Amino acid sequence: MSDNVVTRIAPSPSGFLHVGTARTAIFNYLFARHNDGKLLFRMEDTDPERSKEEWKEAIINAMKWLKLDWDGEIIYQSQRIDIYKEYALKLQELGNAYYCYCTPDELEAKRKKALEAKEFVGYDRKCLHLSEERRQELDAKGVPKALRIKTPHEGLASFSDIVGGDLTRDYLEMDDWVIMRSDGRCTYNFCCVVDDHLMGITHVIRGNDHIINTFRQCTVYDRFGWDRPNFAHIPLILGKDRSKISKRHGAVSVMDYDTQGILPEAMFNFLSLLGWAPGDDREIMTRQELIDAFTLERVTGANPIFDPVKLEWMNAEYIRNMDDNEILDRVRWVMIDAGLTTRLSVEAHWHWMLQVVRLLKERVKTLRDFPTQARYFFTDEYEYDEKGERKHFSDSAVIALLIALRDEFSGLSDGFGEDEIEKALRSLAERLEMKPAKLIHPTRLALTGLTGGPGLFELMHVLGKEKCIARLDRAIEYLEEKFS
Ligand code: GLU
Repeated sequence: MSDNVVTRIAPSPSGFLHVGTARTAIFNYLFARHNDGKLLFRMEDTDPERSKEEWKEAIINAMKWLKLDWDGEIIYQSQRIDIYKEYALKLQELGNAYYCYCTPDELEAKRKKALEAKEFVGYDRKCLHLSEERRQELDAKGVPKALRIKTPHEGLASFSDIVGGDLTRDYLEMDDWVIMRSDGRCTYNFCCVVDDHLMGITHVIRGNDHIINTFRQCTVYDRFGWDRPNFAHIPLILGKDRSKISKRHGAVSVMDYDTQGILPEAMFNFLSLLGWAPGDDREIMTRQELIDAFTLERVTGANPIFDPVKLEWMNAEYIRNMDDNEILDRVRWVMIDAGLTTRLSVEAHWHWMLQVVRLLKERVKTLRDFPTQARYFFTDEYEYDEKGERKHFSDSAVIALLIALRDEFSGLSDGFGEDEIEKALRSLAERLEMKPAKLIHPTRLALTGLTGGPGLFELMHVLGKEKCIARLDRAIEYLEEKFS
């Protein structure tokens, strides 16, 4: 591939960054970076009713979250209205566009009639045949006029798609569509081509719901005599029920996944594999590995399925393999948000927090799981799990066991090392002639309120001697009351 590849991402700010658009952005990014090319960013914000500032900002933030660094400044279509107009008039001067004076009512009536008769619904080209005299007359009256492109009237429209192969459509099914409305504003397909041409886009990579637009857009390239870019239309992402992914399937806004505790690295990796595969069995791939492996030829023709379970699995893998400091740096906000700690406290107890992270990183799927699973490290306010209580706190004999354990642990060093804790518990079990599990389960329930979690000796070390003793005392007191 030549080294002057230029791709673009062109979101419409009519909502937050959708996972489908994010996937398209990722493919454009990977293709550009693989070819040492450029990725440009164009905001398609010409529709004032649907484009909101907050959505533009949200889209930019989501692009940044995914580290989809684009080249150059963002191009805003809303600032280029005059350029589009200039090009529309140019096309008219070239004789490839003509004014249409038909009123909306007239057009609607014709459309209805055609629909009823099951005939071609497109524009009937009435104004193409107006005499110069008639045109001047209408202009003199100030009748509003739109500009329509001249589409070939016969033969096949075709383009070659890198993913879909040769695609064709009968020109008979296409009409002379409006490129500039009577208010001087140009329409979407026209602006898109003018921009792609002026921006020097070599590869248009987008969802295959745009194929219908591409046929129209090709007419614009042809009528200007411009080279067409390469097109690659990628299959749309489906939900597990094989319908187009929507809110029904869960979050569709990329940043909702941030809120859910998904790492951007995992999201990037996951979305890269929706409709593309490296050709071997790799799934966890770094950004650089993805860049190195990415080619459009490997984009699959079939619709990929968005599987949230797989995303969580991948996220868990990323968390497990991430540096502890890095995880803590990200998860601290989630912990603070959950009210477990404060910014200052995290800073003051960074080393201790790292130990908590280390204990839990193998067991969580998302960053959100950290506060849930780490609660007992930060607060004494927890209840005993109901099921656990029925299992391990149902016999008053457990009181004596907890007292023995408390006494055993009291004799240990302040460092409260994992090994010495383990040794103490096991030797007590031996002396009492019981299995260590008989002591381990009630101890865990007393210290954490839970029945599962990281290794007991490790978590006891992180909790520290003082807390462990105090919590055993609390459980003893609770049980004494319960059985009194
Ligand atoms: N603005 C269009 C969209 O958000 C994309 C247009 C394009 O990629 O050509 O779907």
